[in-house]
Amino acid sequence: MAPVSIRRSDGDSVTLDGSAVESLKADLRGSLLLPGEDGYEKSRTVWNAMIDRRPALVVHCAGVNDIKQAVDFARTHGLLTSVKGGGHNIAGSAVCDGGLLIDLSGMRSVRIDPGAHVAHVEPGATLGDFDAEAQAFGLATPLGINSTTGVAGLVLGGGFGWFSRKHGMTIDNLLAVDVITADGRFVRANGRENADLFWALRGGGGNFGIVTRFEFQLHPLGPGVLTGLVVYPLKEAASALKQYRQFAKEQSDETTVWAVLRKAPPLPFLPPEVHGTEVIVFALFHAGDTEAGRKAVEPVRHFGKALGEFIGVQPYRSWQQAFDPLLTPGARNYWKSHNFADLSDGAIETTIKYVGNLPSPHCEIFFGQIGGATMRPAADSAAYPHRNAMYVCNVHGRWDTPAEDRKGMEWARGFFRDTAPHATGGVYVNFLTDDESDRVKAAYGPNFHRLAEIKKKYDPQNLFRINQNIRPAV
Ligand SMILES: Cc1cc2nc3c(=O)[nH]c(=O)nc-3n(C[C@H](O)[C@H](O)[C@H](O)COP(=O)(O)OP(=O)(O)OC[C@H]3O[C@@H](n4cnc5c(N)ncnc54)[C@H](O)[C@@H]3O)c2cc1C
Repeated sequence: MAPVSIRRSDGDSVTLDGSAVESLKADLRGSLLLPGEDGYEKSRTVWNAMIDRRPALVVHCAGVNDIKQAVDFARTHGLLTSVKGGGHNIAGSAVCDGGLLIDLSGMRSVRIDPGAHVAHVEPGATLGDFDAEAQAFGLATPLGINSTTGVAGLVLGGGFGWFSRKHGMTIDNLLAVDVITADGRFVRANGRENADLFWALRGGGGNFGIVTRFEFQLHPLGPGVLTGLVVYPLKEAASALKQYRQFAKEQSDETTVWAVLRKAPPLPFLPPEVHGTEVIVFALFHAGDTEAGRKAVEPVRHFGKALGEFIGVQPYRSWQQAFDPLLTPGARNYWKSHNFADLSDGAIETTIKYVGNLPSPHCEIFFGQIGGATMRPAADSAAYPHRNAMYVCNVHGRWDTPAEDRKGMEWARGFFRDTAPHATGGVYVNFLTDDESDRVKAAYGPNFHRLAEIKKKYDPQNLFRINQNIRPAV
């Protein structure tokens, strides 16, 4: 094999002897990919098309041994290294330029223990993979709203979804992990063994090692769940959002309602003249008895004069895929995110102003309601600290061409700046873009210093640095 020029983590490049690369290849059950080889483009491509990075070498892993070999190789040669799960992170932290990419996306097994209500999940599994297997037994755990998202990155940042109000953040349902640490050791972590590592991994992202297996608590759910959408015109959004914030204070943990402001997609229950106009959509989910659910969501139908609605029982798996068509990979995406404890009048006014001026028809601002069980653990019970957040707000800038970047990014930043006085100051680490490393402290709040100490213990050389990086304590 020809020598390979590759970036080191100290910024220099090194030329690896062909025999060293050949020897790594021989140790793998999966494949070693160089630029131009079959599979290389797929490995380096992530959800956000604004990210266009070219690693010098890809290890496409087939199992734990491949991960260990890749970590040992990266450490031995001091390589700039990134780790890819589902490749959905907005910051593109799954992939690095010029270094080594450890691609886990081929490891997608999900094994359910229906008696124990436990899921064993490999690190390349998507939410869709997880839901398919768990729902075969009428089980689920809180995961996100887009089925092609990776389980690994989602849970390592915290994770929330449609029934987090009932069962907490995804990390609150994580029972144990297997990890390959930076020194190449295989380590099991849970509440008893390596408890500091387990604490750090529940929100601390990819900073502490590569998780090779996740073990989750499952809960009975579905298969049919009450879900729906109620759509109002933008001119009614101020009144609707004020009623929504009151409703949010009174509803039970079984009900979750998100508010999404955007141009109306061509939903079949909306008249054609509404398509493409600015609207507020309330997305409803009830994680309990469906008749009780209908009563619980009834007030949402009377926030104003709806342009259209669709409320009914549908398979949980279908609802978990309902937003996929709006979130397909390949578009250019730029996000800005805040947590809110409540929606002030000022936040509502500012949101409506910005939705009246969307830079592209695909952009939206949403308030993802969490609260409920996500608020009950103490802020220092895991690395994820935002137990005061009732809403995770994301301004989701999305467009097709580089020519639209500047306008869209300015719009998102403007919204972020103008709503900051109304927000908690905290941010969900998984919604940070690659130009927001200055917000990592805000993502971890009071837990930041403990995380830096644990980083020093498990990754003192900062091998795992292509992420929202927590540097080892000095
Ligand atoms: C369309 C869309 C919808 C979303 N909706 C939600 C939502 O509803 N709720 C929510 O909580 N989040 C949501 N997210 C955010 C999501 O949680 C993050 O993007 C998350 O990082 C995705 O995980 P991934 O494995 O696909 O990412 P990747 O880009 O592959 O990885 C993300 C980070 O995790 C690290 N990593 C990945 N796998 C491992 C591993 N096994 N061990 C150690 N480190 C690893 C990577 O190095 C990288 O730094 C959404 C994202 C998108 C794009």
